[in-house]
Amino acid sequence: MTRTIIIGSGISGLTAALLLHRQGHDVLVVEQQAQAGGALHRFRRQGVPFDVGFHYTGGLGEGEILRTLWRYCGIESAIRTIAFPKHAADCIRVEDFPDPVHAYFSYDRFTEELNRLFPREKDGIARFFRAIRETSDRNPFYNMSQPLTGFLRDLAFPEQATLGNFLRSCTSNVYLQAALSHPVFLHGVKPDDVGLAMHTSVAHPLYSGMYTVDRGGQAIADAYLHKLKDSGIDVLTGTPVDSILTDNGKITGIATPGGTYAATNVIFTGHPAQLPDLIAANALRKVYISRLREMTSTCSMFMVFGTVVNHAPGLKWNNYYAMPKGLCMPGTESNRPEDCFFLSGCGLRDRDADDRQGMPRAVILMRPAHWEETLTFDLGRKKRTSAYRAWKEEESRRLIASVNRKWDGLLDGFQVINTASPLTFRDELRYVNGSVYGVQHNTDQFAVGARTRLPGLWLSGQSTLMTGILGASLSALITVGNMVGLESLWKEVRDCT
Ligand SMILES: Cc1cc2nc3c(=O)[nH]c(=O)nc-3n(C[C@H](O)[C@H](O)[C@H](O)COP(=O)(O)OP(=O)(O)OC[C@H]3O[C@@H](n4cnc5c(N)ncnc54)[C@H](O)[C@@H]3O)c2cc1C
Repeated sequence: MTRTIIIGSGISGLTAALLLHRQGHDVLVVEQQAQAGGALHRFRRQGVPFDVGFHYTGGLGEGEILRTLWRYCGIESAIRTIAFPKHAADCIRVEDFPDPVHAYFSYDRFTEELNRLFPREKDGIARFFRAIRETSDRNPFYNMSQPLTGFLRDLAFPEQATLGNFLRSCTSNVYLQAALSHPVFLHGVKPDDVGLAMHTSVAHPLYSGMYTVDRGGQAIADAYLHKLKDSGIDVLTGTPVDSILTDNGKITGIATPGGTYAATNVIFTGHPAQLPDLIAANALRKVYISRLREMTSTCSMFMVFGTVVNHAPGLKWNNYYAMPKGLCMPGTESNRPEDCFFLSGCGLRDRDADDRQGMPRAVILMRPAHWEETLTFDLGRKKRTSAYRAWKEEESRRLIASVNRKWDGLLDGFQVINTASPLTFRDELRYVNGSVYGVQHNTDQFAVGARTRLPGLWLSGQSTLMTGILGASLSALITVGNMVGLESLWKEVRDCT
C-alpha cells in the first residue's frame, strides 16, 4: 500500500487524508499545533467560544460543491449547516458615501440594492454581474458538468483581464467600484492584481448564498477527525515536521523531533515559501526554490475577539464592513488602518445561541495589517513584551471606536477578550509574515500548483488553488486528483450530488 504523509491538519490536510483513504492509500497526518484543525480552530476564553479562520462560506447549498465534497468524504451528516436568512447581507460603509450598501448574498437582491443606490449605473451593474455569472459558468466547481483538466491548465497561466480593469470598464463611480470589489477582503489581492476568474471563484459563492456551521470551524474539524479515526488514520498533533527526507531524487519520509516516519508521498499544506527550508537543497531545482521563496504573500490581519451581551439585532445575521472608495486592497494603503474592517457576530448564530440570551457571546472584528506593524515587537517565536501588549490595546481601542463611528454605536458594550496580530498568525499557524490567505493568487506570479518537480512531493492548501474554506478544500481535491487520476476522482465526487 502507498503511504502518504500529510503535513498540516487544516481543512486541506484533513480533506486530502479522507480522499486518499478512499483511494486505498495508507495515510498519516502530522500537525505542529497541539490541536488539529489549522485555521478551523475554535478556542475558548472565559467560557466563550471564538472562531479564528471560519465565519461564513458559500458552496454549502444542496448540490453545491462543498456540500458534495463533504458528502463524498462521508462527513456531511455530522455537520449542521445554517443558511443565512434572505435579509442577511455584508453591510458596507464605503468611505465618503452617505448610505450603507447591503451586499445581499443573492445576485438579484444585491443588483436591486445597487440599482436603488446608483440609478445611473444600471447598465454597468448588469454588465458586471453578467460577467461574474458567465465566468462562474466556466468554472467546474460551480458548473459541475465541466471537466477539470482544461480549467486547471488555464489557471496555470496569468489571466489577462484583471478585476480592476473590468470594473473600470463597467463604471467610473468610485463608490460603486468599492461596493462591487468588496470580496477582495476575502482573498487578499488588489482589484488591479487579481484576475477576473480568480476573483469570481471567491465572489460567485458570496452572491449565491451564505452559510455557517453550528459550533463553527471546530465542528468541521471534529467531523473530519471522527471520520479519520473511524477509518484508522492517525493524526499526530504537537509534532512539527523538521524535514522532508529524500534519497536519490525520491521521497522517503519525514523527520520530526520525535523520530522519522517513512513514506513514498508527502503533501505539504503550509505556506509554500517554507518548503525549501524543509528539504535538502539539492532535492529541488534552484529556479523552483527561488520562485517559492520570492512569492508575494497576502496581507495579515489585526483581530479582536470580544463579547457582547445585548446586541443590535442586525449583528446576528449581517456582517459589517468599512472600505475605502475606488479600487484598493482595503486597508493596505491607508495611514488610518482602522478605517477598514470586517465585523462578524459569529457567536450569535449557533443554533443554541438563543438559549444564551443575556450571556456574553462572541463577536470578532478584524482589519488588514502589515507585517511591518509588528516588526519592532518581534523578539522571536511567542516572546512578547509589554510594549507589544500596549500597542495591541491601543489598536483595539482605535478599531472599536472606528466601528462605533461608522456604524452608529454598534459595538457599545463590547468587551475585548483577546487579540491576534501578524505575530500571532506567524507563531500559531506558521503563516509567513502572518499572511492570512497564504500566497497571493495574482496575475504577476506563477501559480503554485499541486505538483512539484520531485516525484512523490506534492503541495496543497489555500496557496495552491484558491483561498478560504472552500478553496482550501478544493485544493485537496486537486492534489489528490493529480496523484490518483483527476477526472476519475472528479467524476466520483460529482456523482455524490
Ligand atoms: C482570521 C481569518 C479569518 C478567516 N475567515 C474565513 C471565513 O470566514 N471563511 C472562509 O472560507 N475562510 C476564512 N479564512 C480563510 C481560511 O481559514 C483558510 O483559507 C483555510 O482555513 C486554509 O486552510 P489550509 O488547510 O490551507 O491551511 P491551514 O488551516 O493554515 O492549515 C495548515 C496547517 O499546517 C500546519 N503546519 C505548517 N507547517 C507545518 C510543519 N512544518 N509541521 C507540521 N505542521 C505544519 C499548520 O500548523 C496548520 O495547522 C480566514 C482566515 C483567517 C486567518
